[in-house]
Amino acid sequence: MKKLIFSLAILALTVVACQPNSDEVVPNQEVATIDMSDFYVYTDSDVEKPSSNAKKDKCQTMKVLNRQLKENPGLEKRMFDIEKHTRTYIYFKGKPKNPGGGNGGGNTPPPAPDPYIGIITIPVVVNILEDPAHPVTQAHIDSQIAILNADFNNNNPNTAGVPKEFADLVADTEITFTLAAINRKASSKSEWGTRDAMKLESEGGIDATDPTNNLNLWVCEIGGGILGYAQFPGGTLATDGVVIGSDYFGENAAGGVYGHGRTATHEVGHWLNLRHIWGDGRCRQDDFVADTPSSDGANYGCPSYPTVNCKSNDMTMNYMDYVDDNCMYMFSNGQNDRIRAIFASEGPRESFVN
Ligand SMILES: [Zn+2]
Repeated sequence: MKKLIFSLAILALTVVACQPNSDEVVPNQEVATIDMSDFYVYTDSDVEKPSSNAKKDKCQTMKVLNRQLKENPGLEKRMFDIEKHTRTYIYFKGKPKNPGGGNGGGNTPPPAPDPYIGIITIPVVVNILEDPAHPVTQAHIDSQIAILNADFNNNNPNTAGVPKEFADLVADTEITFTLAAINRKASSKSEWGTRDAMKLESEGGIDATDPTNNLNLWVCEIGGGILGYAQFPGGTLATDGVVIGSDYFGENAAGGVYGHGRTATHEVGHWLNLRHIWGDGRCRQDDFVADTPSSDGANYGCPSYPTVNCKSNDMTMNYMDYVDDNCMYMFSNGQNDRIRAIFASEGPRESFVN
């Protein structure tokens, strides 16, 4: 019994130690209450709505994250810290950092809010493991860069179809993607899988080019009907970036309904710290975005509006859902706030703006 009590005491201490610090004092006196109680990283990737669609598992990002968390004991803490930084940034967005100063006729001038960064330019390095049966042409590359720029700058022509309910939430993230380099390497592999071999020269792939200043894309045959996967901010630098199946890169007839470049948009969304819009769980598990409605699973195909789940209308046209390429055409303002946070001071991708 004593041993049991001791074990319970250890457990209780562990639980206390893992509790987020909810009353951390942030600079300039204001006490920010940042609620981290809903934070999660591990997901049950099988929790999805039943679907007859063959590409049910089109994005492997959360499954890859589960693997990385097991292999890298420090990753969960880093992602927690990044999430807390993000929530703190959003809490203070548009507010002066020192609301007590200068408002009461004192001597202190009114403080300025954080300066808005404006347009962020992301150099893109395209690493291609070339399989002659699935060619990646210059036209595919150029169209992919153009699609990323359209989608992240609210220039997707389909955006006119956003229903009135969500029209005020459509975001222009002001992120510009520029083609920095193309690296090609012949490959006879029919399946590269999702263990990051394509990102490592030592495993036959192509090493990342300076991931602190470039978005690395790897284009290859992934296999298993998988369209792509990404690595969230906080992961190992050598594997930082996005992987996209050859047929789903750019405007590509071979990709069918997924041949219009939106796999890259979705995966770059993860690279910019966006979760799946349904939160990879049931109704109560969130994507950490206030203006996206709750949902209990991915949507597929081209859903009609309204599609009701969790007593609200799904934002099925969001890039972070699983619908066909032509049926996704918006990021929300709340998602944009999360994206901006990672480029802010002390954010995990701050190096891109310095
Ligand atoms: Zn995804």
